[in-house]
Amino acid sequence: MGRYHVNFSCHHCGHCCTEVVCLPTPWDVLRIAVNTGADPARFLEFLCPDEITGVTKNDPTWLLVGDERFIMALQRDEQVGCFFLDKQTKFCTIYEHRPLLCRLYPFKLRETRDDEFAGFSLHTDVGCPRHRDGRYDTGPLYDLYLQDKTHQEDYNTLVRAFNKNKKANRTPEAFLDLFLEVVRPSCSPDKKKR
Ligand code: SF4
Ligand code: SF4
Repeated sequence: MGRYHVNFSCHHCGHCCTEVVCLPTPWDVLRIAVNTGADPARFLEFLCPDEITGVTKNDPTWLLVGDERFIMALQRDEQVGCFFLDKQTKFCTIYEHRPLLCRLYPFKLRETRDDEFAGFSLHTDVGCPRHRDGRYDTGPLYDLYLQDKTHQEDYNTLVRAFNKNKKANRTPEAFLDLFLEVVRPSCSPDKKKR
């Protein structure tokens, strides 16, 4: 696998927008809400461990509510897929503002033993058929990867703050208030484009 390109082309099978659960960061949610006017209360859902696979029990983004845990995801219908997928055309209706995870799929960053950037390859376990009949320049992916890493750190900080707060009537949806009301006035998603 090359450092600057990967042999891959998307055949638009639709798998990633219909069968894969998309986990946005709060910065993704803000960017989508600000730029499209979509209401986070409508396009998000909070899944419990029975409803999602591939997220470890100690993932730092689990919201702890009483004895239960929840993770923030884009709303998805089992039959027709992501909330933002146009059901007729099968195109993403928020393509310009879609979560970073959607932009990185199905690429995986490779690092050396010293944590140095070594290039990109294709994830083997996310269900993409991984067609090799194209050449994909991966330069822009590295910037996205770094941006996503920073956003994930912010996300973890927010979750820690939420999980520390033991108010009796807390709900997973209260996590939305935490970043929509507290974070939004001081920052905009554009400021987080590093
Ligand atoms: S799963 Fe892979 S081939 Fe199918 S639409 Fe997504 S990126 Fe393209
Ligand atoms: S936000 Fe767009 S690209 Fe991402 S899963 Fe939904 S429809 Fe697909």
